[in-house]
Amino acid sequence: MKRKPGFKFLMISLCLVLMVSMFSGCSSDSTKQDAANQQTEQNQTSKEQDTADSPSAELTFKPGTYTGEAKGKEGALKLEVTFTEHEIADIKVVSQGETAGIGDAAIESLKEQILSGQTLAVDAVSGASQTSEGLIAAVEDAVSQAGGDVEALKNRAVKKENEGKVEQLEADVVVVGAGASGVSAAVSAADQGAKVILIEKTATIGGASNLSWAGKFYNSSASISDGLKVEVEKEIAEWIYNNHWRVDAAAIRQYVTQSGETYDWLAKKGYQTTFLNFAGEPLHVLPSYEDRQPLLRAMLHASVEQNGGQVITETTAKELITNESGAVTGVIAEQSDGTKLNIAAKTVVMATGGYAANKEMVKEAFGFEGVNGGLGQNIGEGLKMAWAAGAKVPDNFGGQMLHQTLARATDKLKEQYSAFEASYPLMLTYLPNFMNVGPSGARFRDEAATLEAVAAANTSAFNGPHHLVIVSQSQLDALTKKGMNGVHAPKLPGMPPEFYAAFQEQFKLDTPWTNAQQIFDKMVENGDGYKGNTIEELAKNAGMDVEVFSKAYNNYQAAIKNGVDTEFGKAKEYLEPMSGNGPYYAIIAEVNNLGSVGGLLVNTEFQVLNDQRVPVKGLYAVGLESEGVLFNDTYVGNGVGIGYSFTSGRLGGERAASEALTAK
Ligand SMILES: Cc1cc2nc3c(=O)[nH]c(=O)nc-3n(C[C@H](O)[C@H](O)[C@H](O)COP(=O)(O)OP(=O)(O)OC[C@H]3O[C@@H](n4cnc5c(N)ncnc54)[C@H](O)[C@@H]3O)c2cc1C
Repeated sequence: MKRKPGFKFLMISLCLVLMVSMFSGCSSDSTKQDAANQQTEQNQTSKEQDTADSPSAELTFKPGTYTGEAKGKEGALKLEVTFTEHEIADIKVVSQGETAGIGDAAIESLKEQILSGQTLAVDAVSGASQTSEGLIAAVEDAVSQAGGDVEALKNRAVKKENEGKVEQLEADVVVVGAGASGVSAAVSAADQGAKVILIEKTATIGGASNLSWAGKFYNSSASISDGLKVEVEKEIAEWIYNNHWRVDAAAIRQYVTQSGETYDWLAKKGYQTTFLNFAGEPLHVLPSYEDRQPLLRAMLHASVEQNGGQVITETTAKELITNESGAVTGVIAEQSDGTKLNIAAKTVVMATGGYAANKEMVKEAFGFEGVNGGLGQNIGEGLKMAWAAGAKVPDNFGGQMLHQTLARATDKLKEQYSAFEASYPLMLTYLPNFMNVGPSGARFRDEAATLEAVAAANTSAFNGPHHLVIVSQSQLDALTKKGMNGVHAPKLPGMPPEFYAAFQEQFKLDTPWTNAQQIFDKMVENGDGYKGNTIEELAKNAGMDVEVFSKAYNNYQAAIKNGVDTEFGKAKEYLEPMSGNGPYYAIIAEVNNLGSVGGLLVNTEFQVLNDQRVPVKGLYAVGLESEGVLFNDTYVGNGVGIGYSFTSGRLGGERAASEALTAK
């Protein structure tokens, strides 16, 4: 076999997968064998558990209603749990601030599992692990108060209701993954007359679009009526040039010229976005967070379900079915109750959103993990299934959607201080007025890059998974007294709105940063930043090279003094003075990775290509997993993630339906 770039990665990952996963492998035969072996082992284990920890073993509680509390993803989660003498009778949520549509769906699903199984041996819901852990911990808290045995409840394994059950289903088109791209593909395929089955791993519809802000649809009717007409040929030429010609020019053209129609298509279906001329970029702000999921569900209902198709959630695709000639003819999936679905289909559309939550894969493909700011359930299963069915690993595989930076300190500080105070270190990672250095201590950019999300993240990533923001005592004093005005911040930190939703009132340039010293000392005490009385001491404490950092610091001081940054050309107004006296602090700023980009090479019909760049019959891909055709390495864009997901889904679904219906 001729080896190609990417082959090594493919073989390593596939073999690793063979070792650790029950559903993937180096060949489809070994996959099946492996899966069969592991399935037997699993069945044995659950049988053993059934006898060892019988669900009927008696539980005892002090009857009554108890308030259980724990930390969720977005602060405290408070429950009222009612016990009878031998039963957890009811769980009521008193207060929670979890992500609309994701966290609350997880809470409902877990409540149901705990009550019906009378167990705490429940799995965290994919995509909402922190919320799940919070809910389980809050129930544990109440169980303890009611004198119940938490450990016994945690070990009380309950066999999945339908383990061993197999169902056969049939569709023209199966779509795997219900993010923006999968929903669009399912809807547009159904609109062509295809019977569609959409399967989704979680209880949530909409995937990462539920967390997003806006999408780019070029020259949409809304954009034109607002007076913004993008020069298409110029846009395409610059896009190709900026990505060093290592892109699929036809795919870019297709997105730029056809995304406008997607805006109208969505609006007609009730998913109304709001046009925003964002400094010349045609962005379209998504509906309110609460409305998005219901709107997508309504689209699916009107097109997929009304036409005989199905939307099956809490169901994970495990393997693609292929025939003797290598064509993809269906999907094997597993429902949360243990039922195995064998779904026969004429075409399959992969829309599983990539692998950003799979640390090992990101490290192997990209060089480091960063922080996964995307969906926790996107672990590359869809890509592995498609590769096992003959799809090519693209030559530019490894691209990520690096967006903004995060301060490692935020989470722990949120447990100890108000959301505003806890976000002090985070806010400074978005201001151009502070010295930024890489892990070695060398300065690495014009810090004005922090004003733009993609530039901020990519300049940092080029220097490693994190960088350090240096803050002097005089700067801290100025922040304490006069807020961000004290350090001449040019504008509010450009963080996504959800980052400051909890302190909107205080998020102003002139709000004094009370307690700043205490917060920064706590950050250091928590191990999420460093402090030194001198520059040398800071370098030592932060693990930087003393000589490298001292030199960078001295050069930066000279730039401040002279008003000229000869190294990086930072504008004079951002060369904010730093006191010569310590202490100094270093904030650990990490790269936020919103998703992986690419993994399946597609043509403009969204057919997945094999190693010979010929379509794998019956297999399509849309959304992030097909997005490597637009970018040379990593994502460069504003709104392209959403714009392309909806557009590729709309077009890819249409084409998958057309092939399926011709094959009828
Ligand atoms: C916090 C955040 C903010 C963002 N903000 C913006 C923005 O403002 N503008 C913009 O353009 N882009 C933004 N993006 C990126 C954008 O959201 C994504 O590019 C886009 O939503 C991806 O859509 P998708 O359908 O390809 O994948 P996803 O939305 O990831 O959907 C994939 C779906 O597949 C499911 N799945 C995974 N594995 C399986 C399996 N084995 N079986 C069945 N189902 C499976 C997942 O549960 C998920 O629902 C943001 C992303 C994040 C994380």
